[in-house]
Amino acid sequence: MRFNSTLNRITPINPTYSKHGHPEFPPGTLRISQIETIPQPTPNPNYTFNPDLQQILAGKQLLLDDLGMPLEEIQAHYENGFITFRKGIERHGKKPSCSRCGNKDPGLFASFACSRCGEVCVYCRKCIMMGRVSECTPLIGWTGPEPSFKNPGKILEWQGTLSDGQQIAATRAVETVRQHASLLVWAVCGAGKTEVLFPAIEAAIADGKRTCIATPRTDVVLELAPRLKEAFPSIKIASLYGGSEDRHTYAQLTIATTHQLLRFRQAFDTMILDEVDAFPYTMDESLQFAAEKARKLGSSIIYLTATPSRKWQAECRSGKRPYVTIPARFHRHPLPVPEFSWCGNWKKQLQKKQLPKECMRWINDRIKTGKQALVFFPHIESMQAALPILQKFHNRIESVHAEDPDRKEKVLRMRNGETPILLTTTILERGVTLANIDVAVIGSEDRIFTESALVQIAGRAGRSASYPTGTVTFFHFGKTNAMVDARKQILSMNREGKAKGLLD
Ligand SMILES: [Zn+2]
Ligand SMILES: [Zn+2]
Repeated sequence: MRFNSTLNRITPINPTYSKHGHPEFPPGTLRISQIETIPQPTPNPNYTFNPDLQQILAGKQLLLDDLGMPLEEIQAHYENGFITFRKGIERHGKKPSCSRCGNKDPGLFASFACSRCGEVCVYCRKCIMMGRVSECTPLIGWTGPEPSFKNPGKILEWQGTLSDGQQIAATRAVETVRQHASLLVWAVCGAGKTEVLFPAIEAAIADGKRTCIATPRTDVVLELAPRLKEAFPSIKIASLYGGSEDRHTYAQLTIATTHQLLRFRQAFDTMILDEVDAFPYTMDESLQFAAEKARKLGSSIIYLTATPSRKWQAECRSGKRPYVTIPARFHRHPLPVPEFSWCGNWKKQLQKKQLPKECMRWINDRIKTGKQALVFFPHIESMQAALPILQKFHNRIESVHAEDPDRKEKVLRMRNGETPILLTTTILERGVTLANIDVAVIGSEDRIFTESALVQIAGRAGRSASYPTGTVTFFHFGKTNAMVDARKQILSMNREGKAKGLLD
């Protein structure tokens, strides 16, 4: 796209096409990235805006292709001061930066012969999966009034009760929303962190605040959405993930993968970031950029995690970061504490098609007593090498990993009690709740098993109130700091839970 630029406005210009199909533009037309300051027409109070466009665009930054509306209509809203155009790619000196995802890495830009502007056009490779942002791409936003909601008499219809530990955190979360502040909720695995949010979400909605729960994983969006719809049955809720149908829904409560936040801008008064420590959020700066950008100025932010990074833990201790812990599980039993078991060079044993005898004994004991177990491996290769060895104990032992097409079925068979032992990579370190299992890690010294990964893995055991205990064993070829720190973290949460009277 190219524009004519005057003092008051920019106007898109349609190309004519040469015999060979090349777009041709009149001289003097510019790509949006070449316009120094983009004029913003003052709002015309007498203009009748399109409410559909308002619903789609409020709090967003979209491409023309995302909108599916005629350019003339967009332009009319711009000229009447209801829409903004921003540069998709900005230049700081020579270096490009992407306004949508924050990418500044020169290696993550490329160029192509662009048929929309008739020039070689630089585009961002980093967020290309959300549609191409290039030098001639305007990011379209809304400056008109926000859509309004009418609240029902009763917002929260949840009938459950919070544990004492949950209640303390819930009260802090409500204060955080009211005071437009920030809070880390550090809740042990199995504390029931979703319910903790209910009063805060209720308070936000009652105050007419727009709320977002963002999580790195689509699985979590799919799991949370029905629970929230049940708790807030009269509230409009949008769930957003790659391929979801709600992408144009303007809702009071939005549940989104962190990726989907790239399409938002200054949208939310309350931002709740779930599993802040989890891949890919920690790995990918663009997602942190997206979460920041999706918040309104002066909005409140609540971070949820069972396993904050070392840096965040230190900030909590030194008083730099406001936080609240839920040190005990909902069922008031302590967290299972990992045992360490040295098992020698297990990789070498695997090459000889054997597993260390400590590991064999552990698995055999579980088969004999009929106790189900999850056994974690650092890599797919070592897990697949161990599978046939262990299947000699029981032919229904299975393995699962991230790219496994039968992942869901395998977890279901485990849940139904058909699988005695499930071998897994770190893919099952979070989210999966199985009622009565023991947990082992083989090769817990591997770098992939960070402190937080190990705390999460240990957190799979003893989840249900009917089976609140379970053993956790780290088989290792040399203790690591991560192992020691994970154990310390669990012990310290148990101590705190006891001191606060949250354990029986
Ligand atoms: Zn272009
Ligand atoms: Zn980008």
